Amino acid sequence: MKTWDVIVVGAGPAGCAAAYDLAAAGAQVLLLDKAQFPRPKLCAGGVTIKALNRLRYSIAPVVQETSRSIGVGLGYSRRVAFSTNAPVCALVVRAEFDAFCFEKTLAKGAQFLQIGGIQAVKEGADDVLVTLSNGSTHHTRYLLAADGAHSPLRKLLGADKPHMAVGLEALVPRQLCKKDEIFRFDFGVIGQGYAWVFPKRDHFNVGLYTRDADRFPLEKSALREYTRFSLGTETLEDLRGFPIATGAGLRVPNAERCFLIGDAGGYAEQLLGEGIHNAIASGQNAASALLASKGAPASHAFFEAQGSLIRDARRCTLAANVFYGMLPVSHFLLQAPPLREALMQGFAGGRTLSQCVKALLKFQPGCPPCQTNTPLL
Ligand SMILES: Cc1cc2nc3c(=O)[nH]c(=O)nc-3n(C[C@H](O)[C@H](O)[C@H](O)COP(=O)(O)OP(=O)(O)OC[C@H]3O[C@@H](n4cnc5c(N)ncnc54)[C@H](O)[C@@H]3O)c2cc1C
Repeated sequence: MKTWDVIVVGAGPAGCAAAYDLAAAGAQVLLLDKAQFPRPKLCAGGVTIKALNRLRYSIAPVVQETSRSIGVGLGYSRRVAFSTNAPVCALVVRAEFDAFCFEKTLAKGAQFLQIGGIQAVKEGADDVLVTLSNGSTHHTRYLLAADGAHSPLRKLLGADKPHMAVGLEALVPRQLCKKDEIFRFDFGVIGQGYAWVFPKRDHFNVGLYTRDADRFPLEKSALREYTRFSLGTETLEDLRGFPIATGAGLRVPNAERCFLIGDAGGYAEQLLGEGIHNAIASGQNAASALLASKGAPASHAFFEAQGSLIRDARRCTLAANVFYGMLPVSHFLLQAPPLREALMQGFAGGRTLSQCVKALLKFQPGCPPCQTNTPLL
C-alpha cells in the first residue's frame, strides 16, 4: 500500500498553506476535507498585510476591498479614524478566498479527497495508519490536523481543548444601509472584545467578538442594536456564531508524527481574534519542520518551528489582558500619536504584534521594507 509523506486533514488556510509548501518541495501530500470547495466559512474575511505577505501567491482576484483607514470607537459614543498611506487590510469573502487557495494548492500537486470523517488513527514507530469513516485506510509518515476550531481529529487524538473565543456575525446588503461605513472596530460594545464593520463589495460584514463568552455571551439582539447604530438598519442576513480557537501550541500526547495546526491547534490570537495569519504561518512552519525531519520523529522540529508564533500568540493574550482590562484608558492611549502611528505603520508593513511593540520601544514607527513578492493589487 502507498505511504503518503503527509496527510493533511482540513483544507482551510492552515491545511492549504501546509499542503502547498509540502507539494512544492516534491512531497506526496493527501489533502482531506469533509466539504467540496467552494464551501461557506463563517469569518469576517479581514486578511491582514502580514497574512498576505505569508502567502506564496497573490490573492488579488479575490480581494473585494482594501482599507487604508481603521475606525476605532469606544462603546456607542467616541470614535476616531486612523489612516495611513498604504493598505492595512484586504477584505475577502472566505468562500472565495478559501476556494482560491485550495485551487492553488492542488495546482502545486497535492491530491484531494472528500471524506465523511476519520474513524481511527494509529501512530506507529515509522508511520501513521488513518482509517476513514467509510473504512478505507491510508498510511502516512506524518498527519496534520487542520480541521478548524471544533477539530474532530484533535478529539480523536486526545489533545486538550483550546480556549474558545467566539465571533457572532451577519451580512448586511449595502442597499439596505442608511449609512456608509469604513473598516471599523468598536471596543467595549461587548465585554472583553469589540464589535466590527468590515466593508465588502455589495455588503457589510458586521459582528461581535469576545474572548470570554462565558462571562459575556454574544446576543443576537446586541448585534442588531449595533448594526442599527453603525449602518442604520436592523436587517441581518446569515446571522451565526462560531468559535475561534486560541491558546497556541496544543500537543497530541506522546505523538511524534501527528500535529495540530491552525484553529485545530488553537493558533488564533486573543486580542482581535485574528486567525488567518497564524493558520497560514503554523501550516508553513509545519511543512518546513516535516520536510527537514525527512520521515524521522518530528515533534521537536515541529515545536521549534512554531516557537515564535506561539510566543507572539501569548504576547497577544497578555496585550488583550492589559487592553481590555484597562478600557476606557487603553482606548484613550491608543489615540496617542506614537502608539497610533506605530500600530498603523506596523499593520501596513505586515508586522506582528511583537514587532510593532519592539518598533515602538525603539521609537522606529516607520514601515520595514515589505518582505514579500506578493503584490496586493
Ligand atoms: C465570526 C468569525 C469572524 C472571523 N474573522 C476573522 C478575520 O476577519 N480575520 C482573521 O484573520 N480571522 C478571522 N476569524 C478566525 C478565522 O476564521 C480562523 O482562525 C481560520 O479560519 C482558521 O483557519 P483553519 O485553516 O485553521 O480552519 P478553518 O478555516 O476552519 O478550516 C477547517 C477546514 O477543515 C474542514 N473540516 C472540518 N471538520 C472536518 C472533518 N471532520 N474532516 C475533514 N475536514 C474537516 C472544514 O471543512 C474546513 O475546510 C474569524 C472567525 C469567526 C468565527
